Amino acid sequence: MPRLDIRRISLPTPFPVGAIHTYLILGDRPTLVDTGVASEASWDALGAGLREHGLTVRDLERVVLTHGHVDHYGQAARIRDESGAEIWAHARTAPLIASYPWSMPPVIAANVDFFRRNGAPPAVAERIGEFLAGAVELQRGVQVDHVVEHGARLPVCGERHLELFEVAGHYPGHLVLYDADSRELIGGDHLLDDGTTVPFLFLKDWSEGIRPRSLVLFLQSLDHLARLEVDRVHPGHGTFELAHRAWIERIRKHHARIRGRIRHHLEKAPATVWEIARRLYRSQLEAHTFLVFSEVVGNLDLLERDGDVECSTDDDGTFRYRIVGAEHRRPRPPVLRLDREGRWLEDDEEITHPGTIELLTRALARDADGGFFVSIGSERRAVKVEDAPYVVRRVEGEGAGWLLWLGAGLVEPLDPSTLAIGAENVLYALVRDGLRARFGRAAYYQLAEHIEEDGAGGFALRMPDGTRRALTLASEPS
Ligand SMILES: [Zn+2]
Repeated sequence: MPRLDIRRISLPTPFPVGAIHTYLILGDRPTLVDTGVASEASWDALGAGLREHGLTVRDLERVVLTHGHVDHYGQAARIRDESGAEIWAHARTAPLIASYPWSMPPVIAANVDFFRRNGAPPAVAERIGEFLAGAVELQRGVQVDHVVEHGARLPVCGERHLELFEVAGHYPGHLVLYDADSRELIGGDHLLDDGTTVPFLFLKDWSEGIRPRSLVLFLQSLDHLARLEVDRVHPGHGTFELAHRAWIERIRKHHARIRGRIRHHLEKAPATVWEIARRLYRSQLEAHTFLVFSEVVGNLDLLERDGDVECSTDDDGTFRYRIVGAEHRRPRPPVLRLDREGRWLEDDEEITHPGTIELLTRALARDADGGFFVSIGSERRAVKVEDAPYVVRRVEGEGAGWLLWLGAGLVEPLDPSTLAIGAENVLYALVRDGLRARFGRAAYYQLAEHIEEDGAGGFALRMPDGTRRALTLASEPS
């Protein structure tokens, strides 16, 4: 496959991060990925960049926004006014950018409050607020014309399309654009080469005490990215020279190292986020307070989730973290577990009552951090999922497609493009909001009967109506 025509147009921002890279995709309909901030300098640079490709802003037909940070979406509204271009964004991002910047004052106040309560001196917290307030002029709210979900397709030319994947942790609904044919990925701010600080605090709902665990989400999204074959990453800022899997490895190691250092620090005495940040980052803290905080808070979230640290509140409302010694770990409730075969266990005792199994299967849900839980009545319990949350027990053809029977009366259509092969040839598919289902042995053989070689070294799935769907069969990490 020839490479897609993806051209970089870099636009100035007034931020320490420097220029933002937007990407022009020259297909059937000229498409711009991200927009730069709303400033005259940025507008002029965009015009000049488009002119190099024989275009003007008016020629743009679509704008895809990777996420709602000001440097990525700020001048989308002006481009839309000028060109009538369709704005594309993820369903989680769309309402946020439609309401900026008028929705921002409480968000700014929430940020100031968060930094204060985590031990930042008042002057530092105020500076964060001023920085965010300053960004208000660099954006205009924009209506999203085309709201997408994970796995949506962006037609580019002829049959050629890009896949849009949601990757969490930098911004709610952050999208990356993937070209499976030429193995290129437009990464927004999710993949940055010095990207050790990309998980970002998101404090819109902080006044209600709600805050996504950005780093937890971010690390989970890397599992999905690791499955893609990528030869080239187009980043939102700077250069990206590393192979993407080497980058993923580096990110994981970096954060593990940070957690080691935080733990070491807390073993001496309980501390606030600010105290930990000052200790760990000294010189960078002043210039990069927001990034450093994002990184420390993210790793504290992970340590807290794993029961290694706990957070308490001082009389004045300041949060303070301390190490949980082995002798102080709270007695735990029985562990609810879903094993590889799809059996439910409570402290290693198998649950066999069909009614209970049905109740648990139907109640199984994913929390904001990507962990699993069941709520039954007023009780909410974490579930340890060993492999996939669902097991395909039976496959049946209906009409043009295959149906997957997941037990407990749950039936889901198979999307062949999500089929993947794991260790020991186990087959997986994505169902129900992108959750994984593992094919049980019987279901595997049922479907395998309809998988055949396509004669070109690949495989195709025969559908019940006799048509064939080419399979990519990505491999799952074992
Ligand atoms: Zn960003």
